[in-house]
Amino acid sequence: MARLGVVGAGQMGNGSAHVGAVAGYDVTLTDVSADALARATATIQKNLDRQVKKGGLAAADADAAFARISTATQLEALSGCSLIVEAATERVETKCNLFATLDKVASEGAILASNTSSISITLLASKTSRPDRVIGMHFMNPVPVMTLVEVIRGLATSDETTAEVQAVAERMGKTTVAARDVPGFIVNRVLMPYINEAVFALYEGIGSAEDIDNAMKLGTNVPMGPLLLADFIGLDTCLAILEVLHGGLGDPKYRPCPLLRKYVEAGWLGVKSGRGFHTHEPRR
Ligand code: NAD
Repeated sequence: MARLGVVGAGQMGNGSAHVGAVAGYDVTLTDVSADALARATATIQKNLDRQVKKGGLAAADADAAFARISTATQLEALSGCSLIVEAATERVETKCNLFATLDKVASEGAILASNTSSISITLLASKTSRPDRVIGMHFMNPVPVMTLVEVIRGLATSDETTAEVQAVAERMGKTTVAARDVPGFIVNRVLMPYINEAVFALYEGIGSAEDIDNAMKLGTNVPMGPLLLADFIGLDTCLAILEVLHGGLGDPKYRPCPLLRKYVEAGWLGVKSGRGFHTHEPRR
């Protein structure tokens, strides 16, 4: 692969650029927001430094990786990429528009992948003239740490595209699983009802946020409770995924908890805004 493109420089986009550069790819990272790009490069630098301090990466390799990343606010900068991973906000309209535009700016054989948590890959592919070259490449958060990539084939995705994306994920040190193109795929089909139920438990006063998280952390041996995990994912992203599950599967069991909706309305989005179900150090 020649060059990796990443669209959206939020927590997933900066993580994908990071692991791509460490794997040796030249990376172009784009976002509509110049501020988001500045925050993303600062985060990548900080996370590379942390990897070096922990002994996971040589300082020279970290410097070389950082130097391989360039940024741009225009999608046209992605014209030389052979794989473009879209990691913009989880909104159907945003992603449909992006795929239509990416289809025009990307080179003829380029693969267009989406890091979407829940949105139909087949729908995104329908906005392009290359549905065989469109695929889901669902990284986990934080990308440099989490080893899974869920690979989702749309109806028309080719075997060749699937094999190329699996090979790139493996070169990034990831393990892939294959999921069918149904709302939420595997990870969020299972995870989001669990998080939503924890929000309902808070809404109904069954326990405090601390007690719900401690109950699940210590009681089920997971590294963090569901409300803290939701804060890390982003409450806006959790709500958007639940809306896709609810609308796409039509089952009331996926109804987003009204409290989750209220927090998003308040701008309490979790770690990225400094407040969610818990309070966090505000981000720069
Ligand atoms: P985020 O809110 O941190 O970042 C989204 C970024 O997209 C922002 O910087 C925003 O400026 C940018 N953006 C919005 N519209 C754009 C456009 N038209 N063109 C270019 N950039 C645009 O969100 P995130 O948590 O990084 O999530 C991104 C994607 O990854 C979503 O699809 C989400 O579902 C998925 N995802 C998130 C997680 C998670 O834990 N947060 C995990 C796996 C996958």
